[in-house]
Amino acid sequence: MADSTTRPCWICGAPSNSREHKIKKSDLVRRYGSGPFRNIGGVLHFVDGKSRKVPGPRAKTLMYEPLICSDCNNAKSQPWDNAYEKFEKWLFENAKIILQRRFILLEEVFGTDAVPSGCPELYKYFVKAFGCRLSDAGFTVPEDLVLLLPQTHFQTRLRITFAINKTVFVFPEIDREVFLGIGDLIRIDSLSQGVMERYLWHMQIGWLRISFFYDTEVPCGIGAPWTSDSACLYLGEFESSSLDELIEGARSDTAPGLSVLEVIRDNDGILIE
Ligand SMILES: [Zn+2]
Repeated sequence: MADSTTRPCWICGAPSNSREHKIKKSDLVRRYGSGPFRNIGGVLHFVDGKSRKVPGPRAKTLMYEPLICSDCNNAKSQPWDNAYEKFEKWLFENAKIILQRRFILLEEVFGTDAVPSGCPELYKYFVKAFGCRLSDAGFTVPEDLVLLLPQTHFQTRLRITFAINKTVFVFPEIDREVFLGIGDLIRIDSLSQGVMERYLWHMQIGWLRISFFYDTEVPCGIGAPWTSDSACLYLGEFESSSLDELIEGARSDTAPGLSVLEVIRDNDGILIE
């Protein structure tokens, strides 16, 4: 892999000199505050099962090495970042309604202007997040994703879904919203054709799982695929771990939460509310 200081920006090709957060700083600040994390009891960053203490929302462990230039990370992507921040804030404040009706009208988030366009700015934020993840892993960002960023109308192989992660609801409400994470990047190669540009990835924002499918099939049940072609996001539902798996895990670790999980199992199971 090239020296990170000389790596070209995957969006425009200029030298990379700007760090992008793996998880948006506004997501971290909303949940943990902008001060040092030790003031709230500490935050742990988990990578490959190992944890490290995170000092605050600008910690280097929460950012990628420079993969884009400051112009792309600031001026150019500002409308995309703003769209995402608005979306995430609305989601956070309207969780009860969304969990009941299982769809998100972008008109309610962004106003009526978003209706005809399907809010490409929000989609482009996800393209930026996905492109940075690919680039960080040493993969070339597929050309259609780079080319669509300056366009209003575009074709894309990246489909995004939105789903409720039911497993998060075994935890008390106060803990549920603080789940923030990005998943492993998976490349799907072909036995006959070798290395392919096909990828799977996800972000977990509180109870919402945002899944990325690049040039690969979207499984049923995890929400309607979205490419900014619609102003309504239909949510799916899934469990990242079943209740039985959680109980099994808690039993083998003699975790204090075991009795709580057993009470949930003996009543109605995990309830999304
Ligand atoms: Zn750039």
